[in-house]
Amino acid sequence: GSSTTYRGRFAPSPTGPLHQGSLIAALASYLHARSQQGQWLVRMEDLDPPREEPGAADAILQSLRDHGLEWDGDVLFQSKRSDAYDKALSSLAAAGSLFRCDCTRALLGPGGSCHGRCAPRQAEVSEPWALRLAVSPGTEIRFQDQVQGSQQECLGRELPDFTLLRKDGLYAYQLAVVVDDGFQGISHVVRGCDLLDSTARQIYLQRQLGLPQPAYCHIPVITNAGGQKFSKQNHAPALLSSAAPDNLRRALDFLQQPQPPATLRRCQHMLEFASRHWSTASIPPVLAIAAGQR
Ligand code: GLU
Repeated sequence: GSSTTYRGRFAPSPTGPLHQGSLIAALASYLHARSQQGQWLVRMEDLDPPREEPGAADAILQSLRDHGLEWDGDVLFQSKRSDAYDKALSSLAAAGSLFRCDCTRALLGPGGSCHGRCAPRQAEVSEPWALRLAVSPGTEIRFQDQVQGSQQECLGRELPDFTLLRKDGLYAYQLAVVVDDGFQGISHVVRGCDLLDSTARQIYLQRQLGLPQPAYCHIPVITNAGGQKFSKQNHAPALLSSAAPDNLRRALDFLQQPQPPATLRRCQHMLEFASRHWSTASIPPVLAIAAGQR
């Protein structure tokens, strides 16, 4: 049954403390996993030191515990995974799928593509360069999203290449997420729909690396009154652990899940109720609901 195969994950970037928006993503991935007797892992996506905040990783983990969100196994830190990312890059290079690119940001097209400009001029490319994955023309990626429905992207035309190793030497999110979802045996990816348009790239990369494709479930993201994603950059406040049960109730409300009876006050008991009553069919597929409306 699903109990032996389901492995889900929550993969925060430690750019700030847990806020209501990231709690919703954590809760949805947790409940989706637990409702199917699955495992739920936490992976710290600490790949981008300039964007990180000291202490944020510990604060996020403590906040998850304070909300009763207990994970299985050890937390995987992406900052310790360089060898695996290098190995993936080597195998892609050996297959002739990578090229160097020294385009400035201004030269890059929509979606950050260099439109193959650098592929034929490899001898002239100067440092610092990025490593890009060339996408075969006419590559069409289709997948079924459990909340957003059937998705289709013509990757080769709309996005003929994308970055795996950044000019500043940092591994790109797309590379790390695919290598680690594969390494951790993730069967289900439940995350915010701000990442929906990354999914085709990730599926393409999975195929290049011979990794299995997980099931996808992109949930709506909470926004501020101006329609921006609720995030640290937009000054989303940190969650108070003393208000954990209320934070969970608001997150369940946002996901349009039934509320645990008022007699349940402990996070653990609320989560047990919520995983028994979890229904992806109830989640609204709309991309954004303003935080001020809740
Ligand atoms: N680390 C990413 C973020 O915090 C999420 C990655 C993922 O779920 O694939 O936005």
